[in-house]
Amino acid sequence: MTRPIRLDIDLSAIRHNYLVSRAQTAGRRAYAVIKADAYGHGSLEVARALADVADGFALLNIEDAIRLRRAGIRQPMTLLEGAFDLEETVLMAEHGIAGAVHSPHQIDWLAQLDSDRPVETWLKVNSGMNRLGFQPEEFDGALARLKALPSARVSTVMTHFATADDERGVAGQWARFQPLAERSGLAVSAANSAATFRHPHTHGDAVRPGITLYGCSPFAELEGEALGLRPGMTLSADVIATQTLAAGETVGYGATFTAPQAMRIGVVACGYADGYPRVVPSGTPVLVDGQASGTVGRVSMDMLVVDLTALPSAGVGSRVTLWGEGLPIERIAAAAGTIGYELMCAVAPRVPRHHHDTRG
Ligand SMILES: *Cc1c(COP(=O)(O)O)cnc(C)c1O
Repeated sequence: MTRPIRLDIDLSAIRHNYLVSRAQTAGRRAYAVIKADAYGHGSLEVARALADVADGFALLNIEDAIRLRRAGIRQPMTLLEGAFDLEETVLMAEHGIAGAVHSPHQIDWLAQLDSDRPVETWLKVNSGMNRLGFQPEEFDGALARLKALPSARVSTVMTHFATADDERGVAGQWARFQPLAERSGLAVSAANSAATFRHPHTHGDAVRPGITLYGCSPFAELEGEALGLRPGMTLSADVIATQTLAAGETVGYGATFTAPQAMRIGVVACGYADGYPRVVPSGTPVLVDGQASGTVGRVSMDMLVVDLTALPSAGVGSRVTLWGEGLPIERIAAAAGTIGYELMCAVAPRVPRHHHDTRG
């Protein structure tokens, strides 16, 4: 017997979500963002599921990119932060992996590269996010340096938006980025999921959707379903014990929950060590055998507790959905004061993954 907790990953939903995301654009390329192990969904499985539809993949680590190449993934791949050292620059050339160049030291590595295969380069502009990229006034100099190098082939100019998902939008960053992108004559890539769905004038040549591939909305006021998306992952675990409480009894560490009347509760084999957020309050939604209920008391390391009072047929062995199919991850993220991205990425390695592909 294994501990009854599982993460079901719906690869057909992810393929559907990729196509829905790309369909927001008028025939532009869409690089599927599969960094952070495809936001916790498994980068190899996701890349394989998208291999016949995706225009390319965007990721973070050269190790992951090489692993995908070795597994037979032939699509263009680009590293969103580029090389972290000279050795990685060499590997990018060797394996035909493109990447961002956001800083002068990365150009220095390209200058030291002795390869007859130039590295496809996405020159990154800091248009206001103030994380990675050349300032607009440094752009021409960086581009001229790269163009003079036989080891680099600059294909794309890219930037990344800070507020594409809220009412502030992208106007300021786009005004800084667009003129130099146009003047460069390079392919343009700016849009994350939020801009892919909401700011079509920024689509350029290649969009970079991440979160929407996994069925989660980038917008605080909308859930994925409203965007036509389906959940990529469902986290569930079984009830492993029940308790009956008299009015006034408390539940769990800190005794933060007091039963207002007689209650029946179920103890579920999922805790914060599995990636379920400890900070959520009592009443955070769950589904017990598909029926709506809520959490009771504090989430502990390996267990949490749910209310079974109104669910007389539920008991040991009942399946409890923590998020996913039928229970949008956005709701748990909101209860935890975070975003679906963080919950997806935080599912612990100890939770067994089950990948499904219902492609007919
Ligand atoms: C993560 C990332 C994306 C995807 O962002 P989503 O909000 O998940 O769509 C796109 N571009 C860059 C540079 C990123 O780091």
